[in-house]
Amino acid sequence: MSSVVIIGAGHAGFNLAHLLRQNGFSGRVTLIGDEGGAPYQRPPLSKAYLMGKLDASGLTFRPDSFFDEQSIERIDGTATSIDRQTQRVHVEGHAPVAYDTLVLATGARRRELPVEGGTLQGVHGLATRADADRLKRALEDERHQPLVIGAGFIGLEFAAGARHFGFDVKVLDLAPRIMARAVSPAISIYFQQAHEQSGVQFLLETGIAHLEGKDGHVTHVVTTNGDRLQTDLVVAGIGVIPNDQLARHAGLAVENGIVVDEHLATSDPHIYAIGDCANFPDKALASRLRLESVQNATDQARALAALITSQERVPYDAVPWFWSDQGPLKLQIAGLGTGSDIFIEQRDDKGLSVFAFRDGQLAAVETANHAGNHMAARKLFGSELARPSADAVASPGFTLKDYV
Ligand code: FAD
Repeated sequence: MSSVVIIGAGHAGFNLAHLLRQNGFSGRVTLIGDEGGAPYQRPPLSKAYLMGKLDASGLTFRPDSFFDEQSIERIDGTATSIDRQTQRVHVEGHAPVAYDTLVLATGARRRELPVEGGTLQGVHGLATRADADRLKRALEDERHQPLVIGAGFIGLEFAAGARHFGFDVKVLDLAPRIMARAVSPAISIYFQQAHEQSGVQFLLETGIAHLEGKDGHVTHVVTTNGDRLQTDLVVAGIGVIPNDQLARHAGLAVENGIVVDEHLATSDPHIYAIGDCANFPDKALASRLRLESVQNATDQARALAALITSQERVPYDAVPWFWSDQGPLKLQIAGLGTGSDIFIEQRDDKGLSVFAFRDGQLAAVETANHAGNHMAARKLFGSELARPSADAVASPGFTLKDYV
């Protein structure tokens, strides 16, 4: 009877274990996680959970009983090394775990502020339930002056949550526009204006020189312009680093994540990697890619479960999509806009849609509060249907739904 061992009990790891059973896999399934407790969903941490609209039990994918019912063995501990010769994983405080197939679903960890004062008390990150619990406790004190470093998805979601509680919140970023690495300029402007209307202040093209503190607690953020901004609650949302140390030490190929082929296999055919930690070849971009999204983690888990249970060797080729809830605004992205050079905006009473073209081909559709266009785009990108040209999108009366 074969044995699948999964390291990392997040979105990718949990879904793989669950889908293996759903697909009828009867071998041993072991899920190793280092966060303690039942696997949980991360997106609500900066949204409903932070705002107190969802409790801890609402975060978990399934209750503890589910794992017994499904014969999914859970090990609470940190996997410390992989012995590829004997096909065993070493886990702190546990006996070695033998595998036939090993899956690395170790995710990514948050980047710490690389400046003096970055570890003062009152400086937070937001990647785990423990981080969110610390922040929630901090937000109970109404006197705080929160300052967010990084105008990416997590920083902006936190800022919207902080405004919801009535805090005056400032957001700093080095880039000239918000979410600059991920969305088109029109979407950046649309979201910035909406955040500003709700009271968020932005300081863009602003770097951090260092943080100052008193009695070990942050009191000021000093910018590269020399401004000293008073604050006692800093949230740093400055990106993540893939957890590829185990793979690296085991001698697997690693470069911005664990390098896998189109079947999600690493340079060792008995070891796979999925989710935020995996760097995979993307057909549409014709280059390697590492995505940080629930869709990517879940779809890669689905593809790998199919491969393990049916040995069907279909190359991984899912349509990327993403969402971010920022107060009353819902950003949704279908496809990948990377490298796009033509952007066509469409506004209607629902919101804004931006159609991004790369090499003359529709590559991504970004929407603000326009679920209809988002779903239509996902359907289109997942099919062989002809995509509308830039001229067609720009013509009066264009609706994406007509194409699907
Ligand atoms: P993770 O879910 O991070 O799971 C990896 C797990 O492996 C972790 O529990 C980690 O502790 C564990 N691990 C690592 N190393 C070891 C080891 N050696 N031994 C044992 N365990 C180990 N995505 C969206 O698409 N939309 C959103 O709105 C969105 N919002 C987000 C909000 C927040 C606050 C955060 C943090 C992320 C958000 N994301 C969102 C991103 C999304 O949650 C991730 O892309 C997704 O969780 C990736 O799944 P994963 O399984 O690869 O990694």
